[in-house]
Formats: sequence, C-alpha cells, structure tokens
Amino acid sequence: MAELGIPQNTIAVLKKYNIHFQKKFGQNFLIDTHVLEKIIASAGVTKDDFILEIGPGIGTMTQYLCESAGKVMAVEIDGNLIPVLQDTLSAYSNVTVVNEDVLKLDMVQIAQEYNKGKPIKVVANLPYYITTPIIMELFESHVPLESVTVMVQKEVADRMQAAPGSKEYGALSLAVQYYARTEIVANVPPNCFMPRPNVGSAVIRLTCHKENPVKVADEKFMFRIIRASFNQRRKTLQNGLGNGAGLSVTKEETAMALEEMGLSQTIRGERLSLEQFAQLSNLLQERK
Ligand code: SAM
Repeated sequence: MAELGIPQNTIAVLKKYNIHFQKKFGQNFLIDTHVLEKIIASAGVTKDDFILEIGPGIGTMTQYLCESAGKVMAVEIDGNLIPVLQDTLSAYSNVTVVNEDVLKLDMVQIAQEYNKGKPIKVVANLPYYITTPIIMELFESHVPLESVTVMVQKEVADRMQAAPGSKEYGALSLAVQYYARTEIVANVPPNCFMPRPNVGSAVIRLTCHKENPVKVADEKFMFRIIRASFNQRRKTLQNGLGNGAGLSVTKEETAMALEEMGLSQTIRGERLSLEQFAQLSNLLQERK
C-alpha cells in the first residue's frame, strides 16, 4: 500500500472511497512524512510495545506504528473509515481496528487483555475537540501507561507544560504534571494536515511517573481544590476556595493553612506549585 504521508496518496484514497472530512470528528489528516517519523521516534516505539492509537483516520500513522510496534489497536469513531482502514492496513497482521468512541471503551481492560496488564503506549494525532477529556480519562481511570505521545493544539500543549505564574498555567497543567513528565517534541504548522486546521499544533510526549511526584492524602480532594482555585482565577485563594466552591472549606481554614505553609494571605492559586497544592490539600483535610 502506498505511503499515505505523501499528499497525492491520501488524495487518491479519499477519492477512491468518496470520503468527505467530518469536521464534527476533528478530522485533519497528516500529510507530512517528516512529522510522522518524528512522532514515532519520540514515542520510542519498539517491537515489544502494545500501542493504542486513538483516531487512525485513513491509517496514515497506523502504517508507521504497525511497522515499528509489536501490536497496535486503532480505535476510530467514524464508521465510514473502517473499510478504508481494512484496505490501507491490509498488509499488516499486528493491528486490530475497533469502530468505537474511545471515551466509551474500557481502556484498563484493553491493557489487561491485550498487554497482560503491562503499561501500554498511546500514540495519536488527537481530535482536538476532545483532547482534554481523552487525556484525563487515560490518567484518571488509571490505565497502565508508559507514555502518551500526542499531536494536540499548540495552545493545549503549552498549557500542559506550563509552570506556576505563567498565564497558561492551570488545572490541566497540574493534572498532567501530577501523572507525567512533559516534553514538547515538535511544533507542527497547519500545512502538514489535510484539511488545514485553523490553529498551530504540537507533538507532546507525556512520560508517566512510576511514582506520584507528591504525597497527597486524597487525590480527588486536591483536584477539587485545584479546580476551584482556577475557576475563580482572579480571586485570592482564600476567597476562591470559600465562596460557594462546594468544598466546605472556610476562609479561616484556608488562612491557617496558608500561614502554616509560610505563604501570603493574598496569594492566588496560579502561583502555587503542584507540591504546594498537595500540601494545602493535606492541611485542609487534616482540619476536617
Ligand atoms: N490519525 C490520523 C492522521 O494522523 O492522519 C487522523 C487524525 S484526526 C486529527 C482525528 C481522528 O480521530 C479522526 O479520524 C476522527 O474521526 C477520530 N475521532 C474523533 N473522535 C473520536 C472518538 N471519540 N473516538 C475515536 N476516534 C475519534
């Protein structure tokens, strides 16, 4: 099968199957062999790996994954693309194509069944309309993961990687950094896709921590604190956590915790590191 990273070959396949891009599924297909090679290299794919690919499209990156990985599972929501994938991937016996919404799949069970519960690698050019739900589902449902190497909107990659005090820093940065080390490995302009997206893109590699980087008594409570802090970004932490955030934390309790941590009473959440959020949540919980 011809290499789909070459634009003429993608155009030929689209014509042959009379495929029209579905905007509602975030379909922007890669047509740049250098970017494809870069993604596979950054993901460090080897013959020992089981790869979950989310949204294979017409199979452009799947072909590369099949060449380098042990086994590949490609989950595609758009039923119109399944006959295309059967054709473009017909040379490979190490791939399973699943026609499903990835958010409806039990990915823990997939890792169990197909990789004996060992950590899997996720590699994808993600549909941008559901990037955050997909990433959060992978982490929060505790899918055994080694790494997640994904193409996302550039702005989202910057938010995942952001440090305290920057304007991109927020709940997504903290959630991702709690589970993984982040590294933006490439910036990708719109002309590498068909059709061209309206935004710049980036490939980010998330290498999952073997152990959580901070000690926190109740993960869920910490993330509720984090969300409440950034929902009211312009407020001080004392006001943000106290005001109808549904946390049952009083202004006085926050004040005491901040004092114990040696932080200013007027500090905003956007200045706190992950470690400080963990400490704050542990202190607030002890008081309950
Ligand atoms: N991997 C291909 C490539 O790089 O050329 C296509 C990437 S395109 C940005 C995103 C793909 O995800 C599309 O094929 C789209 O149909 C699929 N998709 C969108 N929502 C999905 C979902 N909820 N579950 C699985 N696949 C989805």
